[in-house]
Amino acid sequence: MSSLIMSISGMRAVVGETLDPSLALKMGKAFGTFIGKGPVIIGGDTRVSYDMVQKAVVSGLVSVGTDVIDVGRVLTPTVQQMIRTFNAKGGIVISASHNPIQWNGIKLMNEAGSFLTPEEYAQFEPLIKEENFPLKSWDAIGTVTEVTDAVQRHVDIILSKIDTTSISASKLRVLVDPNNGAGALADPILLDALGVEYDILNADPNGKFNHDPEPLENNLTELKEALQKGNYDIGFAQDADADRLVILDERGRFIGEDYSLGICVDYILQTESSPSDCVVVNLSTSLVIENIAKQHGLTTHYTKIGETNVTEGIRQHNAIAGGEGNGGVIYPKVGWGRDSLVGIVLALKHLAESKKTVSEIVNSYPKFIMIKDKYSIASRDEVLPFLDKIKAHYASNKIDTQDGVKVYFDNAWVHVRPSNTEPIVRIFVEAPTKDEALRLIDEVKSL
Ligand code: MG
Repeated sequence: MSSLIMSISGMRAVVGETLDPSLALKMGKAFGTFIGKGPVIIGGDTRVSYDMVQKAVVSGLVSVGTDVIDVGRVLTPTVQQMIRTFNAKGGIVISASHNPIQWNGIKLMNEAGSFLTPEEYAQFEPLIKEENFPLKSWDAIGTVTEVTDAVQRHVDIILSKIDTTSISASKLRVLVDPNNGAGALADPILLDALGVEYDILNADPNGKFNHDPEPLENNLTELKEALQKGNYDIGFAQDADADRLVILDERGRFIGEDYSLGICVDYILQTESSPSDCVVVNLSTSLVIENIAKQHGLTTHYTKIGETNVTEGIRQHNAIAGGEGNGGVIYPKVGWGRDSLVGIVLALKHLAESKKTVSEIVNSYPKFIMIKDKYSIASRDEVLPFLDKIKAHYASNKIDTQDGVKVYFDNAWVHVRPSNTEPIVRIFVEAPTKDEALRLIDEVKSL
C-alpha cells in the first residue's frame, strides 16, 4: 500500500518510509518557482518531524529566490491569517493534519490564504514532475525572516472581528483537548482572552499525540471521561493542526462533527443577516446543516470535498458561512479557511447568548445518524468500477457525481469517494435512524 499521497491538498507521507527530505526540498523548489519572489509564509504543527521537513522546504524555496517568512510552529489557520497579514504571495504548512503521528505533509496555500485552487494546482503540479528549477546566484537567493508571535496575532485578529463580551460575562466552564498538537499553542491565549474558566488536556505542544489525532468519538475517551467527572459546560477537541473542531456536551456526549459545525453556523445565521441566499458545505456534510439553513430561510450549496472547493463555493455564492461536516468551520468574516479557534468562539457565544446548554441546543435540531466507513485501496483507479455499479443500481435516484458518487434518498443519502489524502475509499451514509443507515451501507457495500 502506498504511503505517499500527492493531491490538491498537498503531500502526505510516512516518516522513515516515503517522506524522504529530498521530496520536501523538491516541493520547496517547485513552490518557489511557482510563486516567484514571494514572500511565502511557512509554519507547521507540532509534529516531531517538523524540523526535518521544514528545513528542507525552506532550503528549496530560498534556492530559487523566494523570500520566506518563518512563523514556526503554529496552527494551519495561523499560516492562512499570516499570509494576509504580511501580504504574502502564498504559504506552506508542514502538517499531516489529522493523520497519525508517523505521517507528515506539506500543504500549499495561495495569496488569499486558502488552499491552491484546482487551476493553481494544475499550474504547480508540472513543476514537480519537470524538476527544472532555475537556481539563483548567491546574491539573488531568498531571505528568511522569523516571526515569533504569529499565534498571538492570529488570536488578536479573531478577537478584532468577533465581539466576545457576552462570553466573558457568562462564567462558562470549558474543557479542551488539543492532544499535544498545535491547538495547545493557542488555546490558553484564546481562553484567557475570552475570560472563561478552563482546563486543557494534553496541553504540551510537543507533538507526541496522546491519542489518534483524528477527532472521532473513539479517540476522545479521555475527554469524555473528564467531562463526565468534572463540572464543565462544553468540551472541545481539535485535530493536530487545529483547523478541525468537535464539540462534546456538558455530560461528555460526543455530539458529532456535523452538529459541531451546526452550532456555529446556526449562531451566525441567528445573529447576522446573510448577504446571499445560501450557506456552502461539502457533499459529505450532514442534512442537519441544510435543516438549520432552511430554518433561517436559506438554501444549502454542496461542493466537492476539500477545503479549497468549499472556500471557492463560499466566495462564488457570497455566503456568510460554511464549512465541512468533519468539524471545519469557515467564517469568511475572519478568514478563508477552517479554524477551530473561530469555532470555539462561535460555540461559546451561542451558549452565552442563548443561555442554553449544548445538549438543549443539539436536541433542538433534527436527528440524523451518519455512518462513516472506509476501506483500503492500492490506487484511486481501483474504485472506478464500484462507482459505476452504484450509478447503475440507483439510476432512478437523484445522483451527484461532482466527487465520487452521492445518491439521494428521501431524507437520506450515500456518498462514496476515494480520499484525496489517504489510500482509502470513504463510504458515508446518513439517515434519520441507525437501522436505516446500516441498511443503506450494507446495500451499497453489497454492490
Ligand atoms: Mg487538520
